[in-house]
Amino acid sequence: MLRTFAADLHIHSCLSPCGEWEMSPARIIRRSAEAGLELIAVCDHNSCENAGAVQRAGRREGVTVLAGIEVCSKEEVHVLALFPGLDAALALQAWLYEGLEGENRPELFGWQVVADENDAVLGENPRLLIGATRWGLAEIVRRTQGLAGLCIAAHIDRPAHGILNQLGFIPAEPAFDALEVSWRVPRGEARSRFPEIGALPCITSSDAHRLADIGRARTRLRLAAPTLEELRLALRAEAGRGLLED
Ligand SMILES: [Zn+2]
Ligand SMILES: [Zn+2]
Repeated sequence: MLRTFAADLHIHSCLSPCGEWEMSPARIIRRSAEAGLELIAVCDHNSCENAGAVQRAGRREGVTVLAGIEVCSKEEVHVLALFPGLDAALALQAWLYEGLEGENRPELFGWQVVADENDAVLGENPRLLIGATRWGLAEIVRRTQGLAGLCIAAHIDRPAHGILNQLGFIPAEPAFDALEVSWRVPRGEARSRFPEIGALPCITSSDAHRLADIGRARTRLRLAAPTLEELRLALRAEAGRGLLED
């Protein structure tokens, strides 16, 4: 049976150097549940080391968590890669780490905390996660889709790391599965303000780096269940699935 799910598919955890400490797995889930979200994706910069913990915390409270990564391409474009399972996300992460140089300097960029589903600190990620990988956009889209993931150009309205500012256009090939506008743009206005969106599906998400921002923008989806495959159908508007206008 199809019904409506409220989704926020771009949430950072305390693993992102720019994410607040309070963005721990259990707290993210508690706030998501309070905000009425049933489907979220945790998308840290170039890493998914907290995704499993957020997923386990989510299972306790009925919030489904997709394992995601916000990848920074060599063109300095931010792309969301969402996966059907943690293994595929970890496979992309391994490839991203090969293309990521430098060490984090927490005093400059912020701490990168790896935590478990009970918010216990397990350690720190020493890599320069905030940096750009040396992988090009086209290769990132192909790899993500090759791992059965969905690839979404992030916050296309933003000057910093949005594809329109960085490239000036949306490449036709390899095609993104969707585009995202930030919370600043009402989704209903996205196409008129950014005609480059063309026929691609357009979602909106919070890009939350602190708890209060979770769910400040959300996409309502008509799905049979909160899974990546259902999300794929919704983006393609197939089998009765779809994105609902707000
Ligand atoms: Zn971003
Ligand atoms: Zn982000």
